[in-house]
Amino acid sequence: MRYPELSYWLSTVDEPLAPRPSLPGDTLADVVIVGAGYTGLWTAYYLTAADPTLRVVVLEAEIAGYGASGRNGGWCSALFPTSLPALARRHGRDAALAMQRAMHETVREVGRVVAAEGIDCDWAYGGTVVLARTAAQLDRARAEVATARAYGLDDGDLVLLDATEASARCAAEGVLGGTYTPHCAAVHPARLVRGLARAVERRGVTIHERTRVTAVRPGAAVTPAGTVRAPVVVRATEGYTPGLPGLRRTVAPVYSLMIATEPLTAATWAAIGLAARETFADHRHMVIYGQRTGDGRLAFGGRGAPYHFGSRVRPAYDREPRVFAALRRTLSELFPVLGPDVPVTHTWGGPLGVARDWAASVGLDRATGLAWAGGYVGDGVGTSNLAGRTLADLIRGEDSDLTALPWVNHRSPRWEPEPVRWLAVNTGLKIMQSADRAELRTSRPSRRAATFTRLLGH
Ligand SMILES: Cc1cc2nc3c(=O)[nH]c(=O)nc-3n(C[C@H](O)[C@H](O)[C@H](O)COP(=O)(O)OP(=O)(O)OC[C@H]3O[C@@H](n4cnc5c(N)ncnc54)[C@H](O)[C@@H]3O)c2cc1C
Repeated sequence: MRYPELSYWLSTVDEPLAPRPSLPGDTLADVVIVGAGYTGLWTAYYLTAADPTLRVVVLEAEIAGYGASGRNGGWCSALFPTSLPALARRHGRDAALAMQRAMHETVREVGRVVAAEGIDCDWAYGGTVVLARTAAQLDRARAEVATARAYGLDDGDLVLLDATEASARCAAEGVLGGTYTPHCAAVHPARLVRGLARAVERRGVTIHERTRVTAVRPGAAVTPAGTVRAPVVVRATEGYTPGLPGLRRTVAPVYSLMIATEPLTAATWAAIGLAARETFADHRHMVIYGQRTGDGRLAFGGRGAPYHFGSRVRPAYDREPRVFAALRRTLSELFPVLGPDVPVTHTWGGPLGVARDWAASVGLDRATGLAWAGGYVGDGVGTSNLAGRTLADLIRGEDSDLTALPWVNHRSPRWEPEPVRWLAVNTGLKIMQSADRAELRTSRPSRRAATFTRLLGH
């Protein structure tokens, strides 16, 4: 496996991607963690920070950062996949607000650890600007701010921008307005996850790479090379979870794909903006996301790749020329200064996990010692840190503000068996795409997309 080819980010880490030693045979631990992405590594980090005597072993099928953590858009945001109103409906208004505040704090916490551990990951706490480029998008921007106000969030959390203010941050074509939140940092995601792996090793955690877990059961993570026995087993496999026996319907792996341009000139950046390295998107239904990288490129991504039958995850699915071409076109529409032939140097993608009710969760079943976190729907860079801190408290039996948050021990229903799952996920993706096209044509909000979003309870 040529790991640097998996993403622009993995090709620009500050170390060779030589795998760490595999698991040599049977062993014992206090906690065994399956998966060395952010979730697994943050959990190891906070467990050993709280109790340096704990023996923590991490088992990773490939290398640390092989999954979404080494390939994402690098938005360390306070976004949470379940909206405030949906959380409030399920858990009450105070719990919903506590969740949002915890997410705000999480962005600061990641920044604190990045500094404390000396992780060189181009951290830029520039916030996020989400543009409105159609009347329907502007309606959604206004509605989002109105909802935030109704929950007591103020201008310091989310503010409505007029066309001039939005363009001053991100001078895309046809900007009518937008929203801005300070609660996001742009990061080089692979340097973050690789730096985190080194940080946990400094704290005595053992990471075995190229060690695929074939079964997770109470008290054990089983691999072809041997079994790690531990009273607590943490599943931190996110979009890859369906590959584990008995977990095929736990999350649906949905692919997000990205492109990166060559470094842009100072004149091009003067035309585009993003001077504070704000992450950026717009208020369309089918998610797009971008950042100005530390070395002056545009890294830009979006969903829209198909869901694959049987929740299959394959390296071949990381590349979808149709989606790369669409991303390139979108970038050129947003920023005509890039010309029709946007200078793209890298293309890649990866799977992220979506639970049936769109709800991320973290938890520990005390009876079995099985713990998990995931289902972040593409918002896992920040959320996985909150998951790691929460799992550390749950595993150590500490009741805390974190363990009282509403996503803790939430059990999402399982996805339907195939072919219903395939039909449902791909139909949803198509509805969002056609809604965006219709809104561009008519400038009216799409009722089909609104109904679909409501059906999801999102
Ligand atoms: C293209 C893309 C863009 C994204 N952009 C953003 C963004 O800008 N902001 C944001 O917040 N989120 C984003 N996300 C989502 C975010 O990257 C993920 O939510 C986050 O990285 C999840 O971290 P994780 O550790 O839970 O999972 P992963 O990073 O996927 O790690 C899971 C690990 O488990 C390993 N594994 C799987 N099965 C086994 C097994 N059987 N045995 C051993 N190891 C196993 C895998 O190899 C992998 O390393 C994006 C995702 C993608 C794909």
